Amino acid sequence: MRIYSIKKALNIPEYKITGIISETDKEINIKLEPYKRKPFICSGCGQVHKIGRHATEESIAEDLSLFEKRVYLTIVKRRFKCPVDNRTHIEEIPWLKKYGRVTRRFAEKVNRLTAITTNQEAGWFLGLDDEAVYRIDKEILEQQYAQRLIPPPAAVNISVDEVSYRKYHRYLTNVVNTDEKAIIWNDKGRRTEVLDRYYTAIGEDNCKKIESVALDGARTYIASTNHYAVNATIVYDRFHVMQKLNWAVDMVRKQELRKARKDEDNELIELMNCRQRFILLKNKANLTDKQTGYLERLCKANEPIYKAMLLKESFLELYNYDIPEEAERYLRGWIKEALASSLDMFKKIALSFLDKIQYIINWFKKKISSAISEGINNKIKRLKRMAYGYKDIEYFKLKIHQHCGLLNPRRYSH
Ligand SMILES: [Zn+2]
Repeated sequence: MRIYSIKKALNIPEYKITGIISETDKEINIKLEPYKRKPFICSGCGQVHKIGRHATEESIAEDLSLFEKRVYLTIVKRRFKCPVDNRTHIEEIPWLKKYGRVTRRFAEKVNRLTAITTNQEAGWFLGLDDEAVYRIDKEILEQQYAQRLIPPPAAVNISVDEVSYRKYHRYLTNVVNTDEKAIIWNDKGRRTEVLDRYYTAIGEDNCKKIESVALDGARTYIASTNHYAVNATIVYDRFHVMQKLNWAVDMVRKQELRKARKDEDNELIELMNCRQRFILLKNKANLTDKQTGYLERLCKANEPIYKAMLLKESFLELYNYDIPEEAERYLRGWIKEALASSLDMFKKIALSFLDKIQYIINWFKKKISSAISEGINNKIKRLKRMAYGYKDIEYFKLKIHQHCGLLNPRRYSH
């Protein structure tokens, strides 16, 4: 490649190309030196100093590729004694990342890629290892977080979701702006104090403007919301209610599976194994013929599961109602039925539904689409499967904002 075309393509003002250090089919290493008149930005005090006597050193950074070649820049940096603190500092180069050995625009490209795919795939595409992607990505996300999410945005309609991470039940609380369909805040834990932190951060006035809060029926979230979002309608929304119901169905399955194992009932074990689990959780209408056949056999073979499925089916009819009073009457009937059943799990959730019946019925006054929570839930599940298992919880929080929230670059460009 010719020097002048490279210079044009690089488009780095105040620098001249003083040589091509190496070039192969796959990569090129270009040496850059600052023009003499280029101001010296002191990395010590941040001011611009007039440059006098100085020494230099070189550092290498990867830049955006040119014509499918990876580009490395060998950059001459000047060192200088700072008149403010009288110590030696290296000049600061705004378009270079301080750490990480990449240019800022390259780092931004890494970050844009990790917003649409997994870190591993982004790394493979760019030829970077997991550790490098993680470091570059995290630093950019931290900057974006500081710019866009401090202080946390307020919203009129929100949904509060918990998500587990790692094993052993560690939780993260996410606050979603349901009008924007974006996560606007998150933090470790799911206790009352966790949500309190969000409400405190947005301030009393913003809390008063909140009209609805959708949640999963957790006492902690309800307590916090009652205390701060005094004008909000609390909605135990359809998505979260169904989540609870499916949880109960799955608990019955697990219990019956344990029994079948004890009795060495191989046919039943086969019918109830984990691969089939999702069939029990899907709505009947969405099943294929084969899945329906399977479900029929299972229900025939095991009475508790049959009863659980019947209760789930009849619960679903609740959402055919439109008038809150009628829905409430139906729900009370269902609760009675569940309490009279022999299924402990269903008795348990029936009692909890009875306790929170007003919030479940509030959904009929303020219908919040399940699609938002469902979409976010699926995205987070995918994120959790990514490498690092998110041992670094701060990074996991940032990734959630990147994939489901206001740090997603696709929100800002087309
Ligand atoms: Zn200085």
